[in-house]
Amino acid sequence: MVAIRPSVKATAPIIIIGGHYDSVAAGPGANDNASGTAVVMELGRVLALRYPKYEFRFIGFGAEEVGLVGSTAYVQALTPEERQRVVAMINIDMISVGDTLYIGGSSGLTRLAFNAASEVGVSNVAGMPADIANASDHAPFAAAGMPVLFLNRENDPNYHRATDTLDKVLPKNLEMVGNIVIKVIENLSGN
Ligand SMILES: [Zn+2]
Repeated sequence: MVAIRPSVKATAPIIIIGGHYDSVAAGPGANDNASGTAVVMELGRVLALRYPKYEFRFIGFGAEEVGLVGSTAYVQALTPEERQRVVAMINIDMISVGDTLYIGGSSGLTRLAFNAASEVGVSNVAGMPADIANASDHAPFAAAGMPVLFLNRENDPNYHRATDTLDKVLPKNLEMVGNIVIKVIENLSGN
């Protein structure tokens, strides 16, 4: 699933906001990753008429859980010209359950995200644990040289279990991540 919000310019910088919509067979995947998918869709609604200097691409990736298949195929299909234009790929994966919001990715975007978290009043944030730093859909973009940001709460006790259900999802955590992403874009664009 790819939705493109064009810019006023055909050669505009591109911001990709994505998350995977598949889950594992063992569980319904409410946190992993209906939570991220919901934020991607809401950001599509909220950003539809904002920041016209950017082209936005809102993407729901398939087949993440079996080895980042959807995101890898998407990156392979990008032309060299498109890759050059991507200024941020923001991956939202498992962001509703767990005490700490982990922030990882390229140094510049990571710094912007930590600043954004403090500006929107989010305090329980930490750097991404190394064992999951490359374990989601931003990784193929990073490997192809594009700047990435990865937002995740990996400390979900229901991870990949039948108990990863909708009743555990905290709407305030979805709102928090949406606000951080908007603030990152605002600060990236300098207005
Ligand atoms: Zn996931």
